[in-house]
Parts: sequence; C-alpha cells; structure tokens
Amino acid sequence: MNLRVHAVELRSRANGPGARFVVWFQGCTLGCPGCFNPATHAAGGKGIAVADLAAQIPDDVEGISLSGGEPLQQPEAAAALLDAARARGLSTLAFSGYTLDEIRALPGGPDVLARLDVLIDGRYVASARLASGLRGSANQHIHVLTDRYRRSDVEATPVAEIRIGPTGEVVLTGVNPLKLKR
Ligand code: SF4
Repeated sequence: MNLRVHAVELRSRANGPGARFVVWFQGCTLGCPGCFNPATHAAGGKGIAVADLAAQIPDDVEGISLSGGEPLQQPEAAAALLDAARARGLSTLAFSGYTLDEIRALPGGPDVLARLDVLIDGRYVASARLASGLRGSANQHIHVLTDRYRRSDVEATPVAEIRIGPTGEVVLTGVNPLKLKR
C-alpha cells in the first residue's frame, strides 16, 4: 500500500509531545482560505510504500505525527502507518481539517481514530488564527483519545522549530514556524 507524501521530518519537537517522526500527507481538497501549506493540496504523486516509510522511523523518537495535506483523505495508508508505529510502542497524533464528528462518518475514519492517542481537528479559520498549543485557529480542538498524554502535554509543544541540515538546508516547522504575532 502506498502513501502520497509531501514531506517527512525524522525528529521534530514542534509537532506534538517529545521528539516525533512527522509525515505531511500530499493531497487535501478542503480548501481553507489562508492555508499555511498550499503546496500539499494537489493529490498527485505515486507515493511511497507504507512499510518503507515506517522503516525510516528512528529508534529514538517518542511518537509519530500525521499532518498535511489531509491524512484522512488517505485513511487506509494512514491506519497502516499508525499500526506500524504502535507496533513499536510509539505514540500517535494527527492533525486533520475534518472535525471529529466528520471523521467518524468518513470511510475508514473510525479505523484511523482507533489508532490515535491525540487528534487536533477542524478547518483552519484565518480570522480565528491562534497558532499556539498545536492549534492553528481557535475553532480547532485537541482531542485526547487515550490516557497516553494529558492535554497539558500537548499544549506544551513549542510553536516553532528551525533545523539546519548537514548541507545547509533550513527546515521550519510548528504551528507558528515564523513566530508571528497574532
Ligand atoms: S485542511 Fe489543512 S491542508 Fe487542507 S486546506 Fe485546510 S489548512 Fe490546508
């Protein structure tokens, strides 16, 4: 099974509690005005086998985070990747533009939910921009779905992270990567 991937970050501290393997899914049709990552919208690309992606997860991370793009528009691949992560004892978190109730009604949605410790849900609403505590806008909610984390653990996630790679590339991540004021 293939997963269409926009980007991968091996270790991030700005996408959930602790050091996390982050996968930005390619493809999103929700069209939130002011979306922070429009390059993820097109659904093209062949993708990568979930097993190959899972093999990239480092041994020293605490969990995996799914972001987008829209993870729930590839629910089977998302569930398979989450299974691989949980088989290694990793925690699981996803950002989705769908609300929790919408996900429950989506084909494959409950299968993804059953494999998550934390969900941050809802469209990005630019007029309600928040950019803190892992929420992009105030309409979004943090759903703690298991007892692995407390809400305060999730909210303590740094809003920004800058990584400079071995060849000088700069990677900005987090819910407010440029630390812009509201
Ligand atoms: S759901 Fe996320 S990726 Fe999709 S348009 Fe909205 S903010 Fe952008």
